[in-house]
Amino acid sequence: MNRLFNRWVWIGGLTVSVLACSCAWLGGSKEKGVATEGKFQMKAAKENYGTTIDGKRVHLFRLANANGMQADIITYGGILVRLTAPDSKGKFDDVVLGFDSLAGYLKGHPYFGALVGRYGNRIAKGRFTLDGVEYKLATNNMGNHLHGGLTGFDKVVWEGEAVEAADAVGVKLSYTSKDGEEGYPGNLQCTVHYWLTNKNELRIEYDAQTDKPTPVNLTNHSYFNLAGAGNGDNLGHVMMLNADRFLPVDKTLIPTGEVRPVKGTPFDFTKPTPIGKSIKADDEQVKFGNGWDHCWVLNQKAPGELTLCARVAEPASGRVMEMFTTEPAVQFYSGNFLDGSNVGKGGKVYKFRHGFCLEAEHYPDSPNKPEFPSTILKPGQKHRQETIYRFSTK
Ligand code: BGC
Repeated sequence: MNRLFNRWVWIGGLTVSVLACSCAWLGGSKEKGVATEGKFQMKAAKENYGTTIDGKRVHLFRLANANGMQADIITYGGILVRLTAPDSKGKFDDVVLGFDSLAGYLKGHPYFGALVGRYGNRIAKGRFTLDGVEYKLATNNMGNHLHGGLTGFDKVVWEGEAVEAADAVGVKLSYTSKDGEEGYPGNLQCTVHYWLTNKNELRIEYDAQTDKPTPVNLTNHSYFNLAGAGNGDNLGHVMMLNADRFLPVDKTLIPTGEVRPVKGTPFDFTKPTPIGKSIKADDEQVKFGNGWDHCWVLNQKAPGELTLCARVAEPASGRVMEMFTTEPAVQFYSGNFLDGSNVGKGGKVYKFRHGFCLEAEHYPDSPNKPEFPSTILKPGQKHRQETIYRFSTK
């Protein structure tokens, strides 16, 4: 009896300890997964990421903030290859489309996560005239020049260096685009800082200087999916754009020059609206873009002022992304050319509208549209752009 009693006590004790251990373990894993300030270490680490076809070494910089968020940036194309953000239960997921290795990026892709330059978006017929000289650029998209040409900033290897500030870690990327590269005039020295802050922000700062007048329109081309990359389309994301006007385009997606109020059109995102709500509207502009592929003009009080650009919420995960920029406009592209031909991270196939881009920029085709804010950078001037993507939950 005594022995039996002892046995039960022993089994009971074991059960309690097992339960206690699992609770501690669960508690521990919770601490690892939950975005509680102070539990994680802010860190910037550098790793090898492979070699390009012409033998250039590529590095990956892994940034981690004090809340457990991580951002991975590679020196090839300055590409943001991974960005983790917590959902409303504290579960982290990668919210940007991309590949598992350099090979995926080298094969060719629709600018996943890339730095785009010298000129983000389109220049009509790949031509512009500056100080009486006509410049000819590659026509790589429906007879127009797109995203800097055949070998834009998305396909070059940048110099990378880890950097640190009081409340953020980052990577400083540098690249000098030579006079005549892709047909553009002037040596353009560019520096881009990606910062991951303890306010759960990915902050991108662009700086450039030139020795001859040249157009400059730098941006980042990340495809977001706040449900997690590869987890369905973006049509249920609810988006607000702080923009009362947009730029109508022609059939080849070149702005006509008109700046049109969004009021009364399917382009009105001034109030939170599902991305999919009017994406099939019987509207010429929606049809030209095969959905959203247009430039919205931001309600900016003064040129260069950091302004709220967008707020996007994904109802199921509770993730919210707010975007701020010093740029006057944003190209909102709903991934209308994604067609399942890109097999991304973890073997997930990126299908029609599985990601969306919010590209902070100047207006497309500005070098041919004197009525648009100028994108010409002159010697002695400093080009500066700042964009913030801030993550939270609701
Ligand atoms: C453009 C789209 C283009 C996409 C990928 C976007 O910035 O507006 O028209 O298909 O980039 O190249």
